[in-house]
Amino acid sequence: MKLAGRIHKITESPTIAMSSKAAAMKAAGIDVIDFSAGEPDFPTPENVKAKGMEAIRNNFTKYTPSAGIRKLREGVAARYNKKYGTSFGPAEVILCNGGKQALFNLIFCMIQEGDEVIIPSPYWVTFPDQVRLAGGTPVLVPTRQDENFQVRVEEVESAITPATRILILNSPNNPSGAVLPREVLGNLVQLCMKHDIKIIFDECYDCFVFSPYQHTSPIHFFPEARGITYIVNTFSKAYSMTGWRLGFAIGSAEVIEACDKLQSHTTSNPSSISQMAGLEALDGDQHSVDLMFAEYDRRRKFIMEALAAMPGIRCNEPQGAFYVFPDVTAHLDSHIPDSVTFCRKLLEECHVGTVPGSAFGVEGHFRISYATSIENLREGCRRIHDFLAHRHR
Ligand code: PLP
Repeated sequence: MKLAGRIHKITESPTIAMSSKAAAMKAAGIDVIDFSAGEPDFPTPENVKAKGMEAIRNNFTKYTPSAGIRKLREGVAARYNKKYGTSFGPAEVILCNGGKQALFNLIFCMIQEGDEVIIPSPYWVTFPDQVRLAGGTPVLVPTRQDENFQVRVEEVESAITPATRILILNSPNNPSGAVLPREVLGNLVQLCMKHDIKIIFDECYDCFVFSPYQHTSPIHFFPEARGITYIVNTFSKAYSMTGWRLGFAIGSAEVIEACDKLQSHTTSNPSSISQMAGLEALDGDQHSVDLMFAEYDRRRKFIMEALAAMPGIRCNEPQGAFYVFPDVTAHLDSHIPDSVTFCRKLLEECHVGTVPGSAFGVEGHFRISYATSIENLREGCRRIHDFLAHRHR
């Protein structure tokens, strides 16, 4: 069958592809250590699960309004208003099937054929493909490891053309772990205001920013940014709720209403059960988030030490999220010409699943998710270390 042209514009999510391959090897009885999935290894907090089960018992198992229940839209708005001094109402919030759908809705409603969207690289794998699906062109602006993967405002400015509609920012960044400093963000806001460009700000890892760094959202310190910013966030990471599929977008009521219209014809509401659990996640005890955060910090320190001991590896300390993005260019040669081959060999020869840097738009790197136990990190890093040391002999 001849498939629609638009589907040829995109590839399967490389992170999902890598996790599937690692899972298939595991199912075949191979002892794989999988660092590829961007998924917390903790269970969903007990109080949140309990509310999900209660929703089922209470038969809260039917359609809800497509944009989600009012109480949770209000709850999300209230959380943001409390945190950032904003004045969002429920009409400015849509609940979606994960942050991924929130992003998809926004991009689909905000761009059309021929529009350009600026995306700093490394980027989360989904950004460029969603732009392509919507008929737009992703315009990549590279960042550099020796500048801690920070965006250079003047380079974003050089990428602007009359067709530029959106700048997608992601802080803390997946895969680099970089957190946008307040000053850079302020300058980017000014730039976007000047050129009438909207900002989609993906802050899905906002709960995981390590001291001394601080999460900065454009809508917090720059009130002028509120009119041009669209927030994407999720329950997946902070509350370890990846499978519940619950995320949201916040922005102008006009765009949120358009997203609702789109969602009403695509997926309808996110799961009613997840929404009830989401209410508890937002308003209930936050202790489990603190515990997860402390554990990620411990793992971050562990993996940084392990990477520092590996021959030919250069890695920046992540400032947030739960990924490291080491540089392996010292190991690339005619046998291992690129990051895809490097990760394939790590998986096939050492049984360690990682994701090639090229999936995030940066060659010569690979991504390790440290959302896994210290034991797994120890064993996986031992295998990678042996692989690299062997190549040096
Ligand atoms: N944004 C970023 C940067 C991510 O890394 C992810 C998931 O990996 C998402 C959004 C979407 O997550 P979900 O659809 O589970 O909310």
